[in-house]
Amino acid sequence: MDQDFYDTLGVDRSASAAEIKKAYRSLAMKYHPDRNQGDKEAEETFKKAAEAYEVLSDTEKRKIYDQYGAEGLRSSGFRGGAGNFEDIFSNFGDVFGDLFGFSGGRREQNGPAQGADLRYDLTIPFMDAIHGCEKDIDITKRDTCWTCEGTGVRPGHEPETCAMCHGSGQITRSQGFFRVATPCPECRGQGQVIKEPCTDCNGGGLVRKNKTVSLKIPAGVDTGARMRLRGEGEGGRRGGPAGDLYVVIHVEAHEYFERDGDRIYCRYPLTMTQAALGCTRDIPTVHGDTSFTFPKGVQSGQTFHLEGKGAPSLRTKSVGEMIIEVQVVTPAKLTKRQVELLEEFAEIEDAKHTDEGFFSRLFKKSE
Ligand SMILES: [Zn+2]
Ligand SMILES: [Zn+2]
Repeated sequence: MDQDFYDTLGVDRSASAAEIKKAYRSLAMKYHPDRNQGDKEAEETFKKAAEAYEVLSDTEKRKIYDQYGAEGLRSSGFRGGAGNFEDIFSNFGDVFGDLFGFSGGRREQNGPAQGADLRYDLTIPFMDAIHGCEKDIDITKRDTCWTCEGTGVRPGHEPETCAMCHGSGQITRSQGFFRVATPCPECRGQGQVIKEPCTDCNGGGLVRKNKTVSLKIPAGVDTGARMRLRGEGEGGRRGGPAGDLYVVIHVEAHEYFERDGDRIYCRYPLTMTQAALGCTRDIPTVHGDTSFTFPKGVQSGQTFHLEGKGAPSLRTKSVGEMIIEVQVVTPAKLTKRQVELLEEFAEIEDAKHTDEGFFSRLFKKSE
């Protein structure tokens, strides 16, 4: 038979939320399984109280229960039973949280502790990324205090077992029948207290240090490349290893070159006549100037591939290609003589339209 939730908690049907909470708290205290080990009846009472509280502490559920009873709750999809024990305990945060200060604080380890990893963002010039370089970076980090070897204890002294928690690092407080373990406030969960702290690090085991780290940046790095320097992170404590230093590379943009992986792009201007007649020019590449011959009749936007003039691949060390994109520059200012010549040129060009050129085909089609 269904229990009457008000009877279970021993409150009136008109009881306020505060009264319900208070009644449940005193019942839960009295019948908590920890306090009544092996007592099946107490456990049953405890569960019933939890179930009653679950319903009566919820305005909506209480309303349904008042109107339709336990059956009404079940048909409206609310669970009738108290469910498993974990559910019941998870409700405790609301009711008992203020009493015991439930804390999720994890006990700190007493043994060796590894130092934290560090990140350093390094910006390098475009050319340094292509050819590789050596850089010194200055970092400030917390390093192991070598006076006390990261123990925090003044040399010649020993840490003492914490008198408050007897070395366990935890304090078990009893409130009624509740036993709640919290990190020991005296030793902060360490189990040991340092009565004679190291004067260099004030007992923390770490000291602030400036360090210059030398980096050998390989040829072919690009933005986003990450270098890991083992053991160059924060120092460890109590004999733990140091963390790592991660250097994240950022490559500056270049005035003329663009890069995509091992390919280098470059726009190269040619005058109208150079493009038309062909020419040999000294082309700038990331590996220095190189002579290149443009054929006759180069168009604006036309590209030429130069093998082995790109960026080296970080992994294979093979060197990519360079792509030159020609930009034909139309002269904006002409001398009188240049105008004459171009006009003469234009006349010949018109006469040539009878040939099978692009323009003649275009004109034929539109006729
Ligand atoms: Zn120290
Ligand atoms: Zn302690």
